[in-house]
Amino acid sequence: MHRMRQGRWISLFCAAASLASIGQTATLRTADTQIVVEAAASAPRLVSLQIPGQAKWEDRVSEPLIEAIEIAGKSTPLRWQFNRDVSRFDEQQVSFVYESASPHLRLTWAWRVPVTFGPIEHQTSIENLESRAIWIPLQDSFAFNWQIDPQSRLDHLYVEKGANTPSPVGTHQVALTEGYRWTGTSSTYGDLRDDQPREIIPWSLVQRQDAAQSGWYAGIEFSGRTRISLERTKDSLHGALGLNPDPGPFRTHLAPGESFETPVVFLGGFRDGPDGAGNVLRRWVRAVLGNPETWNNLHYPLTVNNSWGGGMAVNEEIALRMIRDSSDLGLEMFHVDAGWFRGVGDWYPNPQKFPHGLAAISDDAHNHGLKFGLWVDWTQAGLSTEHGALNARDPRVRGWMVTDLPQNWEPEAFKGQTIDLGVPEAKQWAQKEVERIVTDYHLDMLEHDGYLVAHGCDRTDHPHAAPDPLNKCIYKSWGAYWVDSSNSTDVSYHAVRAYYDIYSKLRKDHPGLLFEICNDGGRMVDFGSAAHGDYFSITDTYDPLSNRRAFYDTSQVLPAAMLETYVEKWPTPRIENFRYMLRSGMMGWLTIMTDTNAWSAEQHAEAKKEVDLYKKELRPLIRDASLYHVSPRPDGVHWDGIQYWNADRQRGVVYAFRGTIERENTHSFVLGGLQASARYVVKFNDHSAADRKMMGRELMGPGLKVTLPLQNSSELIFIEGEGNQ
Ligand SMILES: [Zn+2]
Repeated sequence: MHRMRQGRWISLFCAAASLASIGQTATLRTADTQIVVEAAASAPRLVSLQIPGQAKWEDRVSEPLIEAIEIAGKSTPLRWQFNRDVSRFDEQQVSFVYESASPHLRLTWAWRVPVTFGPIEHQTSIENLESRAIWIPLQDSFAFNWQIDPQSRLDHLYVEKGANTPSPVGTHQVALTEGYRWTGTSSTYGDLRDDQPREIIPWSLVQRQDAAQSGWYAGIEFSGRTRISLERTKDSLHGALGLNPDPGPFRTHLAPGESFETPVVFLGGFRDGPDGAGNVLRRWVRAVLGNPETWNNLHYPLTVNNSWGGGMAVNEEIALRMIRDSSDLGLEMFHVDAGWFRGVGDWYPNPQKFPHGLAAISDDAHNHGLKFGLWVDWTQAGLSTEHGALNARDPRVRGWMVTDLPQNWEPEAFKGQTIDLGVPEAKQWAQKEVERIVTDYHLDMLEHDGYLVAHGCDRTDHPHAAPDPLNKCIYKSWGAYWVDSSNSTDVSYHAVRAYYDIYSKLRKDHPGLLFEICNDGGRMVDFGSAAHGDYFSITDTYDPLSNRRAFYDTSQVLPAAMLETYVEKWPTPRIENFRYMLRSGMMGWLTIMTDTNAWSAEQHAEAKKEVDLYKKELRPLIRDASLYHVSPRPDGVHWDGIQYWNADRQRGVVYAFRGTIERENTHSFVLGGLQASARYVVKFNDHSAADRKMMGRELMGPGLKVTLPLQNSSELIFIEGEGNQ
């Protein structure tokens, strides 16, 4: 944090000190975002956010800091005082320090510029300097109150997770009018019950309805229970991002010397609408949150064959056959899904199914030039009494469960009881177990699934707050017991941090090992997971329409390479339908999850061609190009499409999908990112039309016309700058 040399620090300090009456100010900027922050005597404040060339967003309130803590069962007020001597700022970061003398606490309010473009990060930490343990209430990550023109026209954009299945809406763009009041929530188990609202990817965008289509967006880099709120009243647009305060009251324990850290949030400015924002944010996620080791591998995102097409039936014979066929198809990884283990919590290969173990399968994959990936529900306990198994009734382990399990409890075939990773012994066990699995089974990729993070927890002897006995609900879902209580957010805070620690260590010890983030499908799609894993299972429903819908939504905010869609068996009477099925899963990370040995010779040959096309032509664009949502969200009825355009390489592609309306055999896609006065060569991959040259102004005006005679068919149209020929 303190990389500024003393001399330069002093000169900046003096310049700002002339503003002493309103406190110390500092400015941080990237190519897209500029903020001014101020340290007033008793609280810090974001003064303004500016997008270059656009009107400022001015904030008018200080950051609300926690006002009291609990010591020895007594509420004790805090008086925060700015501590100039230990506060720091330079061009990359600001950390304003506030102290409370008695009780003795230190709060650090920090902003950081991680790279020269995109959003700026913010975090607050609170350190207990007392010699006694304390309880603190919820400190939000970031609260804002923009002064706005009551007449201004604003839009709000937010995106749902693909979760178990994408909903009919997914990407919400709504008028943010007077009286607008909205809260979006995120956790790792959203949509578990039907009466719960859809969860969002913890991110939101506010856009001015003007020519520049400029505005700001903010997101949360954390997988625990979080929320974003937004409200418009008269000349104020206010809201907050941070841990979810409901159900409250939230409190968390701090031992002497311990710190509470709010989830990191990021705040960025943009222009040119949601795709303008997305094209900066996706690059930023790659540069700031992404794993360089992963991105340096030019085969990322990989093409994969997954065993779940046959469900739990996978065995040695099936696996070896799939490996041969994966290799023949030109795929790059063989991924064993659920069904390989002895039992839930007993993560050893089933000896009846895999008499030679799992490493033998991995070695065979490697001998065929393939990587080897494995599905493991590693936070789930079962009832196996084998050595090494996580048995929920084992007296050593029983206390890691979120509640006492009834005598008749049994796990399901591949789902058990989630342990509370926030318990240090549970975390330690999990760390050792994933290390063993990666090493013993020669893994190149580890996929986690099931419910990784405990919900609320009934225990009073765990590091998190105890549940409120008067406000507690225990229920059963997916074969597991769940607790809902006032401590749910604190439970998730501890468990998610433990999960991050486990994966950080695993990544450090195994550079190049890939992590697939799956939590019953796309329930864990957030920026905290993006910082600790390499790609996401974005939905648990795998038909072409669901895959395209989940991709359309998730690609608003995350790099396409990180977005995995599983391609499942689907009726394909004609080869055009078959290509449509494959391509619906080829816009990001492609995983085939159907028995490829059941494909006809024609389908097999076609798939091989498509995989080759993906690796040679599509993957470089998926990795590096800008992405444009060039149609409304897919509904399966009308046409839809996605465009990639790499301005540096003057190369792009349009994925065009035709829906089911009989008379709609033609559609024009209005493209983005091109130069109006430049000429482009347009090539239709399947020869649905003759190749041609078109001006940028045509492609971005009337659009690129595509004609497909068949329903549920597709085309890939490659675009090249003429000078690039
Ligand atoms: Zn617990």
